[in-house]
Amino acid sequence: MNEEQILLKDFLENKPLYSEVSIKKDFPMYNTTSVNFREMVYFCDICESIKPLHNDCDDYNFFSIAYTDKETMIFRRFSCVSCQKFYKEFLIRLVKVDGKSCTLMKVGEYPQKQLPKSKTLSKFFREDKAEYNKAVICIANGYGVAAFAYMRRIVEKNILSLLDQIQESVSQDSAISNSINELKATSPMSDRIRIANSALPDYLKPDGFNPLGQIYGLLSDGVHSLSDSECLDKAENIQVCLEFLISELAAHKQNKEEFKKRLDALRK
Ligand SMILES: [Zn+2]
Repeated sequence: MNEEQILLKDFLENKPLYSEVSIKKDFPMYNTTSVNFREMVYFCDICESIKPLHNDCDDYNFFSIAYTDKETMIFRRFSCVSCQKFYKEFLIRLVKVDGKSCTLMKVGEYPQKQLPKSKTLSKFFREDKAEYNKAVICIANGYGVAAFAYMRRIVEKNILSLLDQIQESVSQDSAISNSINELKATSPMSDRIRIANSALPDYLKPDGFNPLGQIYGLLSDGVHSLSDSECLDKAENIQVCLEFLISELAAHKQNKEEFKKRLDALRK
């Protein structure tokens, strides 16, 4: 897949209504230029699993536009390759085109995108269910400032319980456990970001990336100075980091318990 295909795939699969994508390509003055796009992936309601959905158009044409086109509407349908029954339809508006690029806006999507609510996070935020729902709705609709505000609020309320869970997974007199105690007691955010970097065991730091430090960093960003789309990115980042930490912690705990059980059985 080239860069334009990757952008279009992400645009169709993930972006909320009224978001835009810019395709860099030559759109010469006197010709119609075609952009083809074959395959997106989506959860098929009929197959009940994630499936490739193919563009129903001949030659997988996604749109063909001329340099002079204005405010054109593009309608495309993508059908599940397995059942051929489930489909997604999109209405895309051409916002502008010039010699080097064109901008498209997603103005319609059917069936409606399911809210990307995480089971792991729903469980973690069970005390703050209503606010977590609002954060998810805001993310799905691209209301970045609101999504970030809701997300920060519930994370700030629940971060101590996350620290407790991490602490339970390490030995009590370890350096990591001490760092977590320090995190619970320290108030300036700049210190917390620094300490967070030594408060995670290695298995929670994929490729050296520290999701806890990332969460603290995101919590310290002010909503005032950020654009709507920057806020949306940050709300999504918090979600991804939290989900990683919580699900890895749970998996680790389960593995450890199973291993202990087997060991006990062997020792008998
Ligand atoms: Zn299907």
